[in-house]
Amino acid sequence: MNNKLYGKLIFELSHKGSKAYSLPQNAYGNYELPAEMRRTSDAELPECDELTVVRHYTNMSGNNFGVDNGFYPLGSCTMKYNPYINEEMAARKDFAASHPAQPADTCQGALAVYYNLQKSLAAITGLSEFTLNPFAGAHGELTGLMIIRTYHESRGDNKRVKVIVPDSAHGTNPASAAVCGLDVVEVKSTPDGTIDINHLKELLDDTIAAIMMTNPNTLGLFEPGIPEIAKMVHACGALLYYDGANLNPMLGASRPGDMGFDVMHINLHKTFSTPHGGGGPGCGPVGVRAGLESFLPKPKVVKNGDKYEIETGADNDIHVGGFLGNFGVAVKAYAYILTLGHENLKMVGPLATLNANYIKESLKDVYELPIEGLCKHEFVFNGLKDKSTGVTTMDVAKRLLDFGYHAPTIYFPLLFHEAMMIEPTENESKETIDGFINVLREIAREAKETPDVVKSAPHNAPIGRVDDVLAAKHPVLTFNK
Ligand SMILES: *Cc1c(COP(=O)(O)O)cnc(C)c1O
Repeated sequence: MNNKLYGKLIFELSHKGSKAYSLPQNAYGNYELPAEMRRTSDAELPECDELTVVRHYTNMSGNNFGVDNGFYPLGSCTMKYNPYINEEMAARKDFAASHPAQPADTCQGALAVYYNLQKSLAAITGLSEFTLNPFAGAHGELTGLMIIRTYHESRGDNKRVKVIVPDSAHGTNPASAAVCGLDVVEVKSTPDGTIDINHLKELLDDTIAAIMMTNPNTLGLFEPGIPEIAKMVHACGALLYYDGANLNPMLGASRPGDMGFDVMHINLHKTFSTPHGGGGPGCGPVGVRAGLESFLPKPKVVKNGDKYEIETGADNDIHVGGFLGNFGVAVKAYAYILTLGHENLKMVGPLATLNANYIKESLKDVYELPIEGLCKHEFVFNGLKDKSTGVTTMDVAKRLLDFGYHAPTIYFPLLFHEAMMIEPTENESKETIDGFINVLREIAREAKETPDVVKSAPHNAPIGRVDDVLAAKHPVLTFNK
């Protein structure tokens, strides 16, 4: 690492008169900008030679933490290894250089990928048909809720304006319902972390459009009441929406369609091999059960005989934009499904579940486990068991960075004050997981014996403890403030 450059701002590396560019001679004549459009003083830009710029950005990229750097147990995010072969497939010129408005005759291969992915997702989830058009999980939720609203309206059932959302739900659920113009009603969780069926009963009437459920829920628990909930919700005329953002634990275990769900979305950028974080490209396919296909948005890819075609036109008023969605993400998902194949895809859920339970059981003597029992792909600790030295979940998360691990999701879900949500995924080796367990045990020991070391962490990271609140409320966005 170059100590002179490392951790510095590009402005601090500036030397008057240094340049990182040289323009070729102008052979085209001059165009004079009108005087009122010209600046009167020089822009304040850093002045650096080319090599300094290259080193600066290369060093800075090394500050990034990703799945390819180390273990990344961020709950509710499925930060799993995304095999490079899938990137190679998506980058193939035949795919990457195709144009959405190309005549179907000239891109049969690309359309076959779309079509087969639509079909694969239907088979994996037990639903009838999928659209790949939405760009993200939240976009999928909005699309799904538009489908549900349009379905009720199509039957002249216009009273259904409310959506039931559990108190443990991901924040996008109530947000999507609100954006769709529906009212949000919260259903409580029982002390064991699952939906309170008695409370749900009280909420169900002819104003309910749907219930949105995440399963396994945000605590990593499989909702055992689903058959009963499905019966109750359908009996009152509402539909069941499945937030399948985290489908990982379900692969090989069970299918939402078989449980009675009517509409769902999947995050391809969590379960199906597109790296995410930092707002990268996503895809939130939405699936529906038989009977609701005509409510899916267009365009869609269909097969007529041996030929694939893009069907446009409208069966309904649902437009989610973006033509056929993020094609590159669809290619990666399809490549991932094909490389694993039926047999290996079935191992994803069980292995992710095994890894999560192994970590939970190995640490529950030093971290507080608020809900005992089997979890699925993730689980939640409520901070350290021994809180007497005042070491918080935030401190533990910061200290983990010193040991080269990304922190788990913290302070979410909101059901516990010191939540630490850990999701290891299926790809990690036993050695990696044991290393993580040992470090969390070591931090628990430090919290007892040398708590200040934990409270002032991180010590080895390029940037120390930042004041998150101050940074969010009063961001300093310029060098010379
Ligand atoms: C990630 C996630 C979402 C939202 O997905 P985005 O692609 O970020 O919009 C929704 N629900 C759950 C349970 C999630 O984990």
